Amino acid sequence: MIRIIHHRKKCIGCNACVESAPEQWVMSRKDGKSYLRHSRQKGEFYIAEAEDWEYEQNLEAQQNCPVKIITVVK
Ligand code: SF4
Repeated sequence: MIRIIHHRKKCIGCNACVESAPEQWVMSRKDGKSYLRHSRQKGEFYIAEAEDWEYEQNLEAQQNCPVKIITVVK
């Protein structure tokens, strides 16, 4: 399993994470920020677990996020 952490409050809604890993990321129609699917909220952060095979695309999301608020841990 991998862990994905999203500092959602700082999201600028650029859509890059959705393009990299659409299984995990979706844009919210409510506030225009991305939402990490199946995540639980912990303060300003949202945390989700995902399968190992989803690591590469989420690493790409981490690298492409312009404000560096995605962290993927193996
Ligand atoms: S790439 Fe970063 S800033 Fe852009 S929508 Fe995703 S989390 Fe938000």
